[in-house]
Amino acid sequence: MTEQYRKRIAVYPGSFDPVTNGHVDIAVRAASLMDLLIVAVYETPAKNLLFTTDERVALWQEVIAERHITNIEVDRYSGLTVDYVRSVGGQSIVRGLRATTDFEVEFQQALMYRKLAPEIEVLCMITDLQYLFVSSSLLKEVARLGAPIEDMVPAPVARALRAKFDQ
Ligand code: ADP
Repeated sequence: MTEQYRKRIAVYPGSFDPVTNGHVDIAVRAASLMDLLIVAVYETPAKNLLFTTDERVALWQEVIAERHITNIEVDRYSGLTVDYVRSVGGQSIVRGLRATTDFEVEFQQALMYRKLAPEIEVLCMITDLQYLFVSSSLLKEVARLGAPIEDMVPAPVARALRAKFDQ
């Protein structure tokens, strides 16, 4: 083999407010194709956040620790995603797709990533059917109203949601 071996590093960016089973599924599947997957929690998304950046990072870390996954790291970032990806030596950005509504948004986002950083590949992975309807925003809404959410989020997240809503 003449080509020099290069570590495959992908970045999975998102708000993760909070991380759901759908997010975890994408991260685990993406990590199986990479040497290292960095889950990058975006500090200042244009959304009303329920969890602080520290909490969003800590929840991901708990999820990864309890599953004994060794090639996923969690980090936080602000500013342009592509700048962050370059700063960690990543070659690709992972995003998850649920329905066609996600497609429109992710398609535009991916084209922007490619415009800003043509050397970075955007990998869109299709959700597992069972997570098709799992979204952080809907989850927060139903959790606030006391609905059972245990089969949609990892256990530490369910506990954190209950604590937030004082249930
Ligand atoms: P963002 O604010 O960047 O969209 P999110 O935390 O909402 O952050 O989502 C991060 C990524 O995970 C996005 O690519 C989103 O489409 C994807 N995602 C969200 N929920 C699911 C799910 N249930 N299955 C697969 N991918 C998902």
